[in-house]
Amino acid sequence: MARYIGPSCRLCRREGVKLMLKGIRCETAKCPMERQWRNFPPGMHAWRRRKPSNYGVRLREKQKVKRYYGVFEKQFKLYFGMAERARINTGDALLSILERRLDNAVWKLGFAPSHKAARQAIVHGHIHVNGRALNRPGYLVKKGDKLSINPRAKSQKFIRATLGEGGPPVQPWLDLNAEQLEATITALPTPEDVQIPVETQLIIEACSR
Ligand code: SF4
Repeated sequence: MARYIGPSCRLCRREGVKLMLKGIRCETAKCPMERQWRNFPPGMHAWRRRKPSNYGVRLREKQKVKRYYGVFEKQFKLYFGMAERARINTGDALLSILERRLDNAVWKLGFAPSHKAARQAIVHGHIHVNGRALNRPGYLVKKGDKLSINPRAKSQKFIRATLGEGGPPVQPWLDLNAEQLEATITALPTPEDVQIPVETQLIIEACSR
């Protein structure tokens, strides 16, 4: 299970958008994207770079989405294949599939302050799906699935400490019972539930080459 272990803020600076990869820090003035002297692409001579080509624009859009959800090319291609076979618009289906990732649902419920932290909580066995431990961050949640926290004291304490610590507000497709630390998936997510601006047409064009 590969994962990116390099600097997170570099990814936001590269894509020119806040990808919210560092939890509460992303909402403070420490975020480099909030500082004018750091808000430019990483690397030397960034100001000398030429205008990106048509392909470059499409590639950046795809990379932005991959980095936001923490997926690599192989898995992204699998998701794209699933979206192409869906009966709805391919772009909408792709975003819905990515939003349904278990690590994304855990982050959006406030059980973890970032995608990365959510992934770790899942791998460490803190999250149960339909009453059973599931250690696959890429599991795609379905309507009716019940998410809960491992009943052992360590997990309950860990998640209660992070509950509501930064992150987006709980979305309408998730029904959270903060007291019991339980949640139900009440609907499938839509493109409106994605927190960053995405032009799906550009991604489709990048993946269809
Ligand atoms: Fe770093 Fe978060 Fe700001 Fe991105 S949004 S640059 S991860 S602090």
